[in-house]
Amino acid sequence: MSHAIRIHEHGGPEVLRYEEVDVGEPGPDEVRLRQTAVGLNYIDVYHRTGLYPVPQLPSGIGLEAAGEVEAVGANVSDLKQGDRVAYASPPLGAYADSRLIPADRVVRLPDGIDDRKAAAMMLQGMTVEYLIRRTFPVKKGQTVLFHAAAGGVGLIACQWLKAIGAKVIGTVGSNEKAELAKAHGCDHPIVYTREDFVARVKEITGGQGVPVVYDGVGKDTWEGSLDCLAPMGMMVSFGNASGSVTEFNPGILSQKGSLFLTRPTLMTYTAKRQDLVASANALFEVVLDGRVKIEVNQTYPLAEATQAHRDLEARKTTGSTVLLPES
Ligand code: NDP
Repeated sequence: MSHAIRIHEHGGPEVLRYEEVDVGEPGPDEVRLRQTAVGLNYIDVYHRTGLYPVPQLPSGIGLEAAGEVEAVGANVSDLKQGDRVAYASPPLGAYADSRLIPADRVVRLPDGIDDRKAAAMMLQGMTVEYLIRRTFPVKKGQTVLFHAAAGGVGLIACQWLKAIGAKVIGTVGSNEKAELAKAHGCDHPIVYTREDFVARVKEITGGQGVPVVYDGVGKDTWEGSLDCLAPMGMMVSFGNASGSVTEFNPGILSQKGSLFLTRPTLMTYTAKRQDLVASANALFEVVLDGRVKIEVNQTYPLAEATQAHRDLEARKTTGSTVLLPES
């Protein structure tokens, strides 16, 4: 019998239930995976609380894992039993030791990337790929602001931006996180829990502001982020770790200097198979050649996902977190 974490209702971390599940055989376009490592992401919190809708309850949870192909459906020709693979995609249900998933959402893993690293990096790493290369293509020499720079997405972003030759300003919640971000390429960590990040960004940029802000924090940083932008700058609002922005008047973009605003999601940027493969390959390249190191700073048994969610929401984690199914 397989095990999975499922939710029967929305709520706090305690609604995550470790249950026996019957996985069954793959449909014609699906594969069944035996999963060895599962990625923990902030979006899992949104699905758990109901901030982001789930198709129906009870529901599986989680969008990212790595493991081995155990069985393939009748129409699947490019994957076979024993292939090492990973994914970062709906449908929900990654928190499991075994699962079914559409074959076209899965990518084969290169030898140099182990399962834990893969489970830690697919969703956060492909997010950084599209944010800094496609949403707002950052150029060498540009100064950018990236919030929550010591988090999962944040640490990957600091390193990748540095590799591009950008100057990185990053916000963090503590001195320890500031050190960590700095060690991963953040030129100017700002401890935004005690420093005025808008004033610091103005100071660092000689009053100019930055051409782009990447904001996954949401409610608490929204207003300040807009104030950090240079005229015609781009606000990339990509998450809501502190809560979502609920009121928005487009007029504010003109008042603050003809700004641009986008609210992107990885699912759109990897919806086409070719985009998914290109994004994964770009990520594999920077990880394999050492430009980006994946920091798996926390692991928990899958059965203890509740504690993992508690720690993530309490801002106790840094870098990436992986849940480990029982082997
Ligand atoms: P992180 O590891 O970055 O964890 C979230 C971090 O946000 C915390 O560690 C904390 O860092 C910071 N934070 C600030 N305020 C709060 C608060 N009130 N409660 C909790 N955390 C807070 O998570 P991920 O790397 O998984 O994701 C980062 C963000 O990116 C999330 O908002 C996520 O939803 C978003 N995201 C969006 C995607 C997209 O395509 N749109 C894809 C992937 C992620 P600190 O203490 O330093 O402030």
